[in-house]
Amino acid sequence: MRWISFLLILLLILNPLALTPARAQSANNISFIRDAEIENYLHALAAPVYRAAGLDPSAITIVVVDSSVVNAFVAGGMNEFFYTGLLQLTDTPEQLIGVMAHETGHIAGGHLIRGREEMENASAEAILGMILGAAAGLAAGSSDAAQGIISGSQQVAERSFLSFSRTVEASADAAGMSFLDRSGISTKGMLEFFKKMEGQEYLPSDRQSEYVRTHPLTQDRIDAVQLHYDNSPPALKDAKLPAIYTEMHERMKAKLLGYLQPDTALLRYTDKDPRASARYARAIALYRTGQPAHAITLTDDLIKQEPNNPFFYELKAQIQFESGNIKDAVSGYKKANDLLQDSSLLRQSYGHALIESKDPANLDLAIKQLLLANQFEPREPLTWRLLASAWGLKGEATKDPEYEGMVTYALAEEAVAKGNDKSAGQLARRAMKGLKKGSPYWLRAQDIKLSTAPESDEESGKHKKSDD
Ligand SMILES: [Zn+2]
Repeated sequence: MRWISFLLILLLILNPLALTPARAQSANNISFIRDAEIENYLHALAAPVYRAAGLDPSAITIVVVDSSVVNAFVAGGMNEFFYTGLLQLTDTPEQLIGVMAHETGHIAGGHLIRGREEMENASAEAILGMILGAAAGLAAGSSDAAQGIISGSQQVAERSFLSFSRTVEASADAAGMSFLDRSGISTKGMLEFFKKMEGQEYLPSDRQSEYVRTHPLTQDRIDAVQLHYDNSPPALKDAKLPAIYTEMHERMKAKLLGYLQPDTALLRYTDKDPRASARYARAIALYRTGQPAHAITLTDDLIKQEPNNPFFYELKAQIQFESGNIKDAVSGYKKANDLLQDSSLLRQSYGHALIESKDPANLDLAIKQLLLANQFEPREPLTWRLLASAWGLKGEATKDPEYEGMVTYALAEEAVAKGNDKSAGQLARRAMKGLKKGSPYWLRAQDIKLSTAPESDEESGKHKKSDD
């Protein structure tokens, strides 16, 4: 598991009531969590609901936001954002799929927040930046939102940007329930989750959970889900997801707690607890609290118990990598990738370890892994950054000047993935000069150049589409 943190600086014109606009700056640290196991679980859980909604599961990006806030929303077309606070609050996979079905109802109903066009094809990081930036922009016209930002919380502004009307919420519920019915999943979990949130609409807004604020939850909505559940055929009412989902759900929660609150994890999951999820949480928490040797012993036990589980090898390799034991980390990541062949994140980690091994004989293999990672997920900034390093090293070793253009091209792709169009365009233009005209990377760099505001720069008058 790794964090992608970025500092978002919001420059705002505040205080609409004052005669002279005041400028204020607010910086927010935001992190996403990328984790192959958690993402695999969330996709597996949601896939039947996506299909029932007529959506292609592989077209939907699920983003985990590291925040204790309880929230979930959809943005940028096919992206569903889930906060760790919400994931941790769900007791069962049935409750979580209830929340997912509701969010999918927003996608299927086209209830998309503003800025849809710019957000399509943007990375999750760029989308969240746009959402929070736009939320801040709204502050100029809303003293409520402005106050939220002045107080440093940002949340009130987010709410006014993200929230839907009660009617739209009710229609997302209705759609979500029909997707659950069609997937043979009981609406009981959705009802249970809503009941967890019940009563919050009467709380002062600073005590409500963000989920209730962005998805206004009224008694009417709870009643409608209750009625739907009561009228479901008995077989559907009692339908349970296969036991494997309960296990995956427990492991997700154990893993999140182990990483995010290791001290709490060590208290909650005692060393007397025989469950794999408990030992997993402890192994992670020990590693996170600077006890790698003990963590590896526990991980080895887990591997012994489940020798075909790629994520246990991944954890062990990550601990080894961060302890400087790169050689063993390389073999661990290799094993994880043998067991799960189509994970961009596992390929990326393997490629990273191969680069760090500083063994020139590993460079080609590293490049191969990173290119595979790109095939599975073309918009992952770190993969492109690592590929730039690997190509750079290759260029030093071979003295082939073509690699210089490739490095610049990879950095242009990284900028695209980060939603930084301006520097993507500049890098792409530079990359084209170093690459063989008409070669695949040259063509790709040209695509980037043309798709990133080709008319808006000082060079635009100088070239036609076909030259450079
Ligand atoms: Zn909603």
